[in-house]
Amino acid sequence: MKICGNCFNDKELKAMLNQYESVDAKAICPNCKNESKLYDIHLLDSIRDMMEGFLDNYVIHESGKPLGREIKKQWKIFNDSFNEDTIAVIIQNLCLEYCKERKDLFTSNVILEKLLNSDYRDSHLALSTSWDQFTKEIIEVNRYHSRYIQKDVLKSLFSYVETHYSKNDRFFRARTVSKDYIYRKNEMGAPGGRKSSEGRINARGVNCLYLATDEETCIKEIRAGAFEYVCVGTFTVIDSLRLVNLAKITEISPFYLISNNTNIADIALNKSVLEDMDKSIRKPQSSKDDPLDYVPTQFLADYIKSIVDENGNPIYDGIEFKSTHSDTGRNVVLFDADSQSCKCECTNVNKYYIRALDYKKSIITNESTFN
Ligand SMILES: [Zn+2]
Repeated sequence: MKICGNCFNDKELKAMLNQYESVDAKAICPNCKNESKLYDIHLLDSIRDMMEGFLDNYVIHESGKPLGREIKKQWKIFNDSFNEDTIAVIIQNLCLEYCKERKDLFTSNVILEKLLNSDYRDSHLALSTSWDQFTKEIIEVNRYHSRYIQKDVLKSLFSYVETHYSKNDRFFRARTVSKDYIYRKNEMGAPGGRKSSEGRINARGVNCLYLATDEETCIKEIRAGAFEYVCVGTFTVIDSLRLVNLAKITEISPFYLISNNTNIADIALNKSVLEDMDKSIRKPQSSKDDPLDYVPTQFLADYIKSIVDENGNPIYDGIEFKSTHSDTGRNVVLFDADSQSCKCECTNVNKYYIRALDYKKSIITNESTFN
């Protein structure tokens, strides 16, 4: 069986493939149909060893899932277009001898062995309930001290979903402005004092600096209208930044975890709750929102802000999340918005006129439906 780099989605395996000689320098891959370098799957011994180490974590159990489905749903190891059966066939070819010994991996349901241990599950869950139940409790029962959260577990999970920025990286921030004025650099920061309004990341009165990774995104985020004027400040990073980006939970390589002596069950157990947290943070804000709905994400942001290293210094400078207004743009919210100590400074301001808006629509219904 032949395989190519596009057959893998996992960064660790993709990188490992480069160390092998290809058997075809350019040909159509029989699995993913891309034109690419092809490798003989039976010669990929380090990738085989990694895969076998990964499979060692699984046992047969009726409460589990077929292996192909488990891998497709839980770990993005292979090309997204592969179905469960293709995934199973590739693994059987890659780990030929191992799979002969463990034939039942492909005929029965499998589960991560650690997940069968209830003590392990209880002590490794970031939330001992669903995100929805946590949300209800924190809004309606106990605002500041949740009994459901295991802070140490959450803290260790955040270390797998970090993004880092360096000196001179740039972000952007927009403000609408009148026709005859341009904001100065020192007017592009957060409002200051107690003037900040309620948001998904900050309670009213708590200052944060909302930025975006590109100009288009920051203009869309403030919902600037057609024929309005907008000032866009460029914010340059002056000291390295360490952020939490929950969306990265879906990109974690199980092989990276295994090589760093982390049990892959730690991530499997908490993946869906971290995805729910990310979804809540990304939800677009509207003036019609009930500010009470922001309480759970404000709690989460405050917790991230409170995490300190062994010297008592805050570890995280802020949070990063995908913008709902753009396919590639991301929002960055820095906890320290004070112009004296903030790790970003406004280094330029451009003024723009919004000539037109580009509406994208989806049909909901048609009048004839009601006749
Ligand atoms: Zn391929």
